[in-house]
Amino acid sequence: MRKATIEEGKICPNCKKQENQIKIGYNRSGTQRCRCKDCGIRYTIDPKKHEYPEETKKLAMKMYYSGVSGRGVGKILGMNKANVYNWIKKTKS
Ligand SMILES: [Zn+2]
Repeated sequence: MRKATIEEGKICPNCKKQENQIKIGYNRSGTQRCRCKDCGIRYTIDPKKHEYPEETKKLAMKMYYSGVSGRGVGKILGMNKANVYNWIKKTKS
């Protein structure tokens, strides 16, 4: 399947239309909700995987290796501790 450029990821999962997609707010986790004017279904836009900048990663590692726990690092940087542990695993290998 060819990958089309989708603006803001607004595409109807049902009829695959990109036109007439209206924003109807956000759900609890802050995901954008949309409605297709054509077929009327509601859907949420998958948020792009949160990519952290290299500096944040470096900072996290620095903190970790200076004695802060993975959990602590996550707390300080406001991210999931699983994320931090992932980085640690990657840098160790
Ligand atoms: Zn539709």
